[in-house]
Amino acid sequence: MRSDPQTPSVSIAALIVAAGRGTRAGGVVAKQWQPLAGQRVADWTVARFADHPAIEHLVIVHAAEDAAQISAFADAGHLCVPGGATRDASVRAGLAALEAVQPDLVLIHDVARPCLPSEVIDRVLGALQISEGAAPALTVTDALWRGLEGVVADTQDRAALYRAQTPQGFRYDAIVAAHAAHPGDAADDVEVARAAGLDVAIVEGDEANLKITRAPDFARAEQLLRRKMDIRLGNGFDVHRFGEGDHVVLCGISVPHGRGLQGHSDADVGMHAVTDAIYGALADGDIGQHFPPSDPQWKGAASHIFLEHAVDLAAARGYRIANVDCTLICEHPKIGPHAADMKARMAQLMGLDPAQVSVKATTSERLGFTGREEGIAALATATLIAP
Ligand code: MG
Repeated sequence: MRSDPQTPSVSIAALIVAAGRGTRAGGVVAKQWQPLAGQRVADWTVARFADHPAIEHLVIVHAAEDAAQISAFADAGHLCVPGGATRDASVRAGLAALEAVQPDLVLIHDVARPCLPSEVIDRVLGALQISEGAAPALTVTDALWRGLEGVVADTQDRAALYRAQTPQGFRYDAIVAAHAAHPGDAADDVEVARAAGLDVAIVEGDEANLKITRAPDFARAEQLLRRKMDIRLGNGFDVHRFGEGDHVVLCGISVPHGRGLQGHSDADVGMHAVTDAIYGALADGDIGQHFPPSDPQWKGAASHIFLEHAVDLAAARGYRIANVDCTLICEHPKIGPHAADMKARMAQLMGLDPAQVSVKATTSERLGFTGREEGIAALATATLIAP
């Protein structure tokens, strides 16, 4: 997480309340740990804040029995603290955990709102520049009734009514004092703040910022998240011919062989195919375009420079690499004994888990140029996902 270059002096924390049991949504685990569009609900919610450039500190308040669920958050450097028996107690535990970092502002958010658009965070932070508190809400557009035994008993004026959302933002010191003074059992932090006399500005919420409460809400949230998700596939193909030498470099691993591969770099045909697959998924040319063979500075260059460039380019455009699959086509050398090392090396270079990387090999049944052992071919596929 970086600090916002526009407001270097203001330190901002987010507090995610994830200690509830969420039984209304069904399922054996609490709703925040249930799967949603390929991750857990909590993973989406935490990423909303972890990816926001203005948020410096992140604290996740979880139920004590859910300690195993938060290891990835702790590993990522976020504060994780057990909550209390009530929502108020959990928020107080999270605020106490922030005491050491003393943020200027804190945004308190329900973990069950995983589709929070970053614009809503921006609006809350914008209002906090002049207000002691700020929270998103939506106006009520449907008519409101009071019902009695299935019959409309009265109509309710909807003017000035809002549907409250989170994150609710406050000056840190002010909300700590407000919680300390509150008797408990508040519906949300705005209620706590108002009881302490704080002004809370209303900013525009978003229909996408829905709260997962019941089982059908998962489908709505999944639809919203998938709509924003950009999944890209790229392929790469490369060939290098054999020449003089006593080894070949394939997927970053040097393999002893009676001949070497020729090329203007280290001729790592597998790594080149993977690199081109990533450029392909980005629809941004190929290795030859980014590193022209005519440029002498790339002569004999280690191919990891190309791969790392492609990986950095993907990250800079907001994509993460979901998986890579590479097939080497040759009769010799035998790839099998080296495949695990190649997979590990490729994963390391791309910052991936080895389980996301496949390196396999085939012969071409002694047919064609690979069959005649004139060279080695490689083809690769890469999947990129944003956000
Ligand atoms: Mg090549």
